[in-house]
Amino acid sequence: MEGFINICPICKSKKIFKLYDSKIDRENQYTKFLLEKVVTNKNNIKCSMMGCSDCFLFFFNYRYSKQELNKLYSARYNKKRSEYIDGYKSAFNSNKAKLESRSNLIRKLLVLQNYSKYRNWRKSGKVLDFGGWHGRNIPDIADKTEKYVLDKSNHKTEANIIKLRNLKGNKFDLIMSTHVFEHLVDPLKVLIELVTALKNDGLIYLELPADIVGIIRKPSIYEHINFFSRYSIKNLAYKANLEILYLKIKKYPYAYHSTIAYLVVLQKNKKQRKLNNNLAIKIFDIIKDLINYVRVKFEKKYTLFI
Ligand SMILES: [Zn+2]
Repeated sequence: MEGFINICPICKSKKIFKLYDSKIDRENQYTKFLLEKVVTNKNNIKCSMMGCSDCFLFFFNYRYSKQELNKLYSARYNKKRSEYIDGYKSAFNSNKAKLESRSNLIRKLLVLQNYSKYRNWRKSGKVLDFGGWHGRNIPDIADKTEKYVLDKSNHKTEANIIKLRNLKGNKFDLIMSTHVFEHLVDPLKVLIELVTALKNDGLIYLELPADIVGIIRKPSIYEHINFFSRYSIKNLAYKANLEILYLKIKKYPYAYHSTIAYLVVLQKNKKQRKLNNNLAIKIFDIIKDLINYVRVKFEKKYTLFI
C-alpha cells in the first residue's frame, strides 16, 4: 500500500469522503522538512484528509513509499529534524532532558498498570516495544524480564535492551507499541504480524493519539497519516482477531509536553464476536471521544493512579 489510495487503509472500504486538502506551506517547518529531506516528488504531499464512512478512520490518502519512509524514519532522526523544526533544537526548552526522563518513568508506570490489570506478575517474561526507540518505556513484568525493541530507525538503545531486526523466533508476553500506529502505512498488516509473535495468553498494549479532535485545525501531512477514532480502533482490533479489554482516553506526559491518547489493551480473541456495524454506535463513539477528550484536556492532574 503506497502512493495515493482510494480505499480505507484498514477496512478497505471504498466509501470514503474528503475532509480537506493538505496545504503545502513552505513556511511550515514540518512541510519544509518533508519537501527538502523526504519526498521524492513534491506532488506526493498534495494529498487530502479523508474519512471512512464504514470504520470511521481518518487518514491522509498519500502513503509514503519505502524510500520515503527510510528517509523519514532514518538514523539521526532528531539531528536531521533539528535543522528545520524548533522543537528538536537543543535551545528549545532548557528542561527538555529532565522532562523527557520524567515522562519515560511515568510511561513505564502507565504500561505496567494497564498490563497488571489483566495479567499477574510472572517468574520470567518477555516484552517487545514495537517502534520503541531507546526502550526506556518498557516496564518489568516479571522477576526476570527480557526487554526487546524493534524499531525502523536505528536508534541507540539502553544497555539492557535487546534490539531485534524482525519478529521471527520470539513469542512475547507483552507487545507494546506507543505512538506508532498513527505513522504506519498499513496498520492492520502490522498488527496482524505482531499477533503472530504474541503468546496465547499475551497482551498487546497500544497508545494512539486522540488526534481526531485536532483535525478541526486541518493539519498538513507529516508523520501522522492515520487519525483513529474509538470505532476505528474497535474495527482494527476486530480485523486482527483481537478482543478489547480496555479502551480509554487519557492525558499524560509525553516527551517534554503532554499528550491526550487512547490507551488500548488487547488479547487474542477466544470467541470471535461480530463487530456491531450500527451507525448510531459509530456516532455515539465519536460523541464519547469528544466528551472524554474535553474532560481530560481540562484536568489539572494526570489521572495515573487508578
Ligand atoms: Zn474504514
